[in-house]
Amino acid sequence: MRNSAMANDEGQIVSCPTCQKENRYHIDNPFRPFCSERCRLIDLGEWADEGHRIPGQAIPPDYNDPEVDTH
Ligand SMILES: [Zn+2]
Repeated sequence: MRNSAMANDEGQIVSCPTCQKENRYHIDNPFRPFCSERCRLIDLGEWADEGHRIPGQAIPPDYNDPEVDTH
């Protein structure tokens, strides 16, 4: 007798919520239901948050003003 429920051992095929790529919902996949850590981070917004962490004020506004030096 064939039992298709045995597939439970290999995990269920699911689509990654981020990239739609098929992957196994399995205990061996720590990022489930995502296909990878990258897709998981994208979904959590951490990926975008990292891009916002770059400081935009590296150069002071008066750096290019020579008159500041002669007050
Ligand atoms: Zn993915």
